[in-house]
Amino acid sequence: MEIKVGTNILAANDAIAAENREAFASHRCFAVNLVSSPGAGKTALLERTIEALHARLSLGVIEGDIATSLDAERIRRHGVPAVQINTGGGCHLDAYMVSRALAALALASLDVVFIENVGNLVCPAEFDLGEAAKIAVISVAEGDDKPLKYPVLFREARAVVINKIDLLPYTDCDLARLRDTALSINPALAVFEVSCRTGEGLETWYRWLADSAREWASSITP
Ligand code: MG
Ligand code: ZN
Repeated sequence: MEIKVGTNILAANDAIAAENREAFASHRCFAVNLVSSPGAGKTALLERTIEALHARLSLGVIEGDIATSLDAERIRRHGVPAVQINTGGGCHLDAYMVSRALAALALASLDVVFIENVGNLVCPAEFDLGEAAKIAVISVAEGDDKPLKYPVLFREARAVVINKIDLLPYTDCDLARLRDTALSINPALAVFEVSCRTGEGLETWYRWLADSAREWASSITP
């Protein structure tokens, strides 16, 4: 006898993810799923990105955490709507949680929705939320071997944001090796080397994100 629990859970998730994807498409709302380990700087990247883009794009955020609404509060301080999901111990967001959060966002008025996943490099890579793009965020303090150890995320991602490059002198991270291993897993990855603390390198990320949102929206047939 064969028990395919994992497969069934993912199939049920994928069905709801397809509905979410429909909802995003019908409102021409570009959905971005940010995945990283805890402390890589997803929320800091969001705060910087919001400050740079909210004058020309209408933004919304779904925050996923095991506990607290600290990150949603950080986002709201920038004048952007944020819905907090607490997974109550769950180590990833699933499509159902996101579908419930969507009900609390005025999708019709938004150009981009960021979904900040629970800090974890494993299952967030496998659970489709209905996003248009999955983005891996990694900090140089985590070491340069992460793409080799967590290849699924880097295979699924459209881009990788390498954060905290201001800390490079204090780590053993080989930035070129980190970039090259990520690209060896997925040659199509867009790679950004940034510091959310100093702002270095972020301009190219903002441009890529705004361009990707526009290209995606224009690819949707009404
Ligand atoms: Mg966070
Ligand atoms: Zn999980």
